[in-house]
Amino acid sequence: MEMGSKKEIGRIEPQGEIYKCPSCGYQDGFHVSFRWNQEVSEGEVYLICPNCHSRFRMGWMISIPQGQKKGA
Ligand SMILES: [Zn+2]
Repeated sequence: MEMGSKKEIGRIEPQGEIYKCPSCGYQDGFHVSFRWNQEVSEGEVYLICPNCHSRFRMGWMISIPQGQKKGA
């Protein structure tokens, strides 16, 4: 199940302040999206350029503990 663009997802080198799109040079930062893996309750954060809609990943993983969904 692939959502959004089928274009290849690029990579941004994690250095300095990241606000500029390597594809088009847009300099006002990125939109954020996630690819969620239901099986391990873990997702990867994607950055999307608001100008050219290129997608980038930085290996930026997030997780949500299972127990928190139903309350303590
Ligand atoms: Zn761009």
